[in-house]
Amino acid sequence: MTGKLDGKVAIITGASAGIGEATAIALAAEGAKVGLVARRGDRLEALAKRIVAAGGEALAIVADITDETKLQTIVDKTKTTWGRIDILVNNAGIARIGEIAKADPADWRRMIDLNLLALMNLTHTVLPILQAQGSGHIVNISSVAGRTVRVGIGGYNVSKWGVNAFSEVLRQEVSSQNIRVTVIEPGMVNTEISDHITDPIAKQRSEERWKSITPLESEDIAAAIVYAVTQPPRVNVNEILIRPTTQTW
Ligand code: NDP
Repeated sequence: MTGKLDGKVAIITGASAGIGEATAIALAAEGAKVGLVARRGDRLEALAKRIVAAGGEALAIVADITDETKLQTIVDKTKTTWGRIDILVNNAGIARIGEIAKADPADWRRMIDLNLLALMNLTHTVLPILQAQGSGHIVNISSVAGRTVRVGIGGYNVSKWGVNAFSEVLRQEVSSQNIRVTVIEPGMVNTEISDHITDPIAKQRSEERWKSITPLESEDIAAAIVYAVTQPPRVNVNEILIRPTTQTW
């Protein structure tokens, strides 16, 4: 069987759960060799086994990507194993939401550190390899919250607007070097993301929203990512905004 990504190598952050896990499976199913990055090694190892059992190639790389000293190791391990890197999916993220006046600023820092700075730093670490190859694709997972704002999610909005701004500047800077940049903006997706909300009002609001719609599944976002990275080299899908049909906001 031939896949559209045969011979390609991808790194996916946040691959131990949700959108990242589904993306790793989907990219591997198209023939990509996948570097799986997250903190929970047991889940990464289980996923790697599953991908290998299905005929793919996968490497579990346990790392907290907010630790800048780990980023070069992620890139080096992948490059040493497979000789190249073609796709980076910057997916790992958290949503510690709540209204600004009542927020714990430490949650803002956590979101900026992971959702924005880790994404920027890992991109910066992988870029020299893509530039030397003369090709590559950076896929940044933003959110509807990177395009709109809403009461109660200010810190998350800031982190995701940052992702969108960074992605567009990056696109302008590297597209002449044959490097593509895609930003994906999901609406509500059925994952573990809301399990970590600690603010009781934000939790209640979030639960009400979840009950009011049929959310997307992680596989829906993975399919959007596969679409973007399997286009002919002349095509750069810049942005995909994807909401559940019944999500009005
Ligand atoms: P999940 O909570 O299901 O998964 C988050 C992933 O990020 C996990 O694999 C987790 O692994 C990893 N992660 C968290 N912290 C770190 C860290 N410090 N270092 C490395 N990995 C880390 O969330 P989703 O799949 O829902 O979210 C994925 C992305 O999609 C995020 O950027 C999110 O903002 C975005 N998104 C999600 C939406 C949704 O409704 N679900 C909507 C819009 C955007 P581990 O704990 O093992 O480290």
